[in-house]
Amino acid sequence: MFWDKEIETLDRGSLERLQLGRLRETIEHVAAHVPFYQHKLAEAGVEATDIRSLDDLRRLPFTTNADLRATYPRGLVATPPGELLRLHTSSGTTGKPKALFFSRGDVDNAAELIARAMTMAGVTTDDVFQNMMTYGLFTGALVMHYGAEKVGCLVIPAGPGNSERQLLLMQDFRSTVVHVTPSYALYFAGYLESKGIDPRRDLALRKAFVGAEPYTEESRGKIEKALGVEVYNSYGLSEMNGPGVAFECPHQSGMHLWEDHFIAEVVDPQTGEPVPEGECGELVLTTLCREAMPILRYRTRDITALVPGTCACGRSHRRLARITGRTDDVLVVRGVNIYPQQIEQVLMGLPQVGRNYLIVLDGLDEMTVKVELAGSGFDGRIEHVVRLQSEIVSRLRAEILTKPKVELVPEGSLPVSEGKAKRVIDNRKL
Ligand SMILES: [Zn+2]
Repeated sequence: MFWDKEIETLDRGSLERLQLGRLRETIEHVAAHVPFYQHKLAEAGVEATDIRSLDDLRRLPFTTNADLRATYPRGLVATPPGELLRLHTSSGTTGKPKALFFSRGDVDNAAELIARAMTMAGVTTDDVFQNMMTYGLFTGALVMHYGAEKVGCLVIPAGPGNSERQLLLMQDFRSTVVHVTPSYALYFAGYLESKGIDPRRDLALRKAFVGAEPYTEESRGKIEKALGVEVYNSYGLSEMNGPGVAFECPHQSGMHLWEDHFIAEVVDPQTGEPVPEGECGELVLTTLCREAMPILRYRTRDITALVPGTCACGRSHRRLARITGRTDDVLVVRGVNIYPQQIEQVLMGLPQVGRNYLIVLDGLDEMTVKVELAGSGFDGRIEHVVRLQSEIVSRLRAEILTKPKVELVPEGSLPVSEGKAKRVIDNRKL
């Protein structure tokens, strides 16, 4: 199913010509109105007329997270104050937030891209959409909300947490589609189990959009099984409208990135040079339609690859592979680079393992992985616990090349966050 078949299946030549024209307009727009870019473009010695092909994109300067923080609170605004319609901020764990402004056109475009994505996944006016993301300064919930309304779903702005109320809403209004973080989806599945609810028998759920945190294919399988839904991966970031940058189609072989709105590059995070198609690197995005706050070559710090080839669904927009981590969430333990997703992949592949885990770093590089046991299907006999523990240690060692301590804990004993999951506690004094 298509929301806008013409643009979604536009031939590559036309799509790239459209990108080039919009890129030039974006450069003219920021060069005329954003002092930050006036300075940056002058420094790089580039003007809009120098951009003759999409390869010339590489002549433009990068924009970083630090640039956005440094220009807080005004942001990189390119329109008069009277044209600003909405402010979101994106918070990091430290320092100032980033101020992100939307014009009316930006708000409309953000909803339009979500409408494409939801329709692509088979959502229709008959669906009841329960939005379990955090409403507020974070873009995740609101942008999906307006997109779902555009499709014509009945939208329930549930927000996260309060599992009892979530369940009540699902039962009483027969919710069919949810939008949820992977960690809360897994927690909620445990809640349903504890209440004796079988989602396939007792609820009407059929699809889940899962995003806002990186997660593994193994976790997707667990969520699908536990909630009885098809899980669709989504990708977005507040700097680029929020969710809606890239979504999976029913073929689920990568997420189609809406290339009429964004140009994607994948670069080596160290050198900033492009990596060959299909290889992993840092995703760099340029906005093509944003009015209030266009951004050139934004270093997302997300690690992914562009999937080579075309998709059987007929869409011409290229696909992003699953986000495997962030350039800044790599843990360096005893000199080895470790992504938390590597650990998750090992754990979630084991049926005896439950839905939650925590990585704790102490002292001089001591790593402990606390792992919840599955509530069902594990008898808790001591010899079985010991065997499982040593199996996890050896599998982790093979994956991350260092030997962590593994502590098995009962289901439900690790802290659960209602927003983004905190998977790592670093107490090291290095
Ligand atoms: Zn497709």
